[in-house]
Amino acid sequence: MLDKVLIANRGEIALRILRACKELGIKTVAVHSKADRELMHVRLADEAVCIGPASSAQSYLNIPALISAAEVTDSSAIHPGYGFLSENANFAEQVERSGFTFIGPRAETIRLMGDKVSAIEAMKKAGVPTVPGSDGPLGDDEAASLAAGVRVGYPVIIKAAAGGGGRGMRVVHSEDQLLEAISITQNEAQAAFGDGTVYMEKFLEKPRHVEVQVLADGQGNAIHLYDRDCSLQRRHQKVLEEAPAPGLDPKARADVLEACRQACIEINYRGAGTFEFLYEDGKFFFIEMNTRVQVEHPVTEMVTGVDIVKEQLRIASGLPLSIRQEDVKLNGHAFECRINAEDSRTFMPSPGKVTLYHAPGGLGVRMDSHLYTGYTVPPHYDSLIGKLITWGADREIALTRMRNALDELLVEGIKTNIDLQKDLVRDSQFRQGGVNIHYLEKKLAG
Ligand code: ADP
Repeated sequence: MLDKVLIANRGEIALRILRACKELGIKTVAVHSKADRELMHVRLADEAVCIGPASSAQSYLNIPALISAAEVTDSSAIHPGYGFLSENANFAEQVERSGFTFIGPRAETIRLMGDKVSAIEAMKKAGVPTVPGSDGPLGDDEAASLAAGVRVGYPVIIKAAAGGGGRGMRVVHSEDQLLEAISITQNEAQAAFGDGTVYMEKFLEKPRHVEVQVLADGQGNAIHLYDRDCSLQRRHQKVLEEAPAPGLDPKARADVLEACRQACIEINYRGAGTFEFLYEDGKFFFIEMNTRVQVEHPVTEMVTGVDIVKEQLRIASGLPLSIRQEDVKLNGHAFECRINAEDSRTFMPSPGKVTLYHAPGGLGVRMDSHLYTGYTVPPHYDSLIGKLITWGADREIALTRMRNALDELLVEGIKTNIDLQKDLVRDSQFRQGGVNIHYLEKKLAG
């Protein structure tokens, strides 16, 4: 087992990783910016190192500072969490070159999946269903682009190969807008990501966001941990997630789960990962793969009993997967509400001092949060301050528990989105299950 892990992240995920390390008897090193001295996991870690000023660019994204911190603390591995450098192939490479273990896939896998065109190609080869599209990048050949548009059928979406965070995409409704949309998206992608490569996909009008969690040990073993539904989104940011995804076509689902597992073996995947799909009319369409632990991983842990972060640590230690596919049993249903320090109506961030924090409890209730009474949420980072997760033997029980738990949760002194979450878990359409990715924005607009 790894001896000492440096946690290259902050907030709730840093605490989550610290807890997993402690369970496995691994020593922990917290790194933090000057604004983050008071973080819960910094207090609990065996060692803590300040890596720079508040700005992420100079701290959590500062590769030399992170590697020096690993050196001075004699750490054996670095866990990147999610966000920040978690999907940065150069970081993974530099970590390994400096003699540390990167807790994640090999740099070449991160690179392959970071370019959406190469990711889609690899998935097609592995038998994972993809969105009908241009089969590769769109070049300068206007006639070829127009022909692709006719073949795919309007509406189409032009997407940047290097895009992320919902940026670098443009929907095109008719042929006369196509060439202009391609050139605008190319220019934007070049400016934003330093790579102007774009491709075309059929634009699906009312899909759900369904994703598949996988674990692979890079030694030929891979499993899937079933699916999650993350369709409730605002500006492409997930708000409320659940596992399993309700009401999927059983055959299509079984096929896609197995295809994801096989794809991991095919690309010799290592670590935890997520295949993201759009799901429409009973069919799955791969859009991208995330090569890291995700914010919403707890819902999967609640329904499978598998500790995803502990598995990451075991895999990084060179151990084979501790579970086989046939041992993974789905049990019950789970929801996760993301709790953000932001106004429930305007979504304006609301940093500041938490004058009172009271976490809910009881059977089937899990709160992953770094908050405590007296903690000050700094203004410099993402507004996620916690995740409330509930489990129940079925969807209805899990949802009832979520309603009750949200009523118990108290965060005072700052504004939060708890009221929005309370509203969502009482929404009649959501309660039925299976709303599409536009549902939340339409509801907010209406
Ligand atoms: P990012 O890496 O920026 O998150 P994705 O490829 O995951 O980009 O797409 C983000 C979101 O954009 C999806 O969750 C979906 O809402 C929308 N989207 C992407 N591709 C399509 C498509 N082919 N049809 C409809 N919506 C799409």
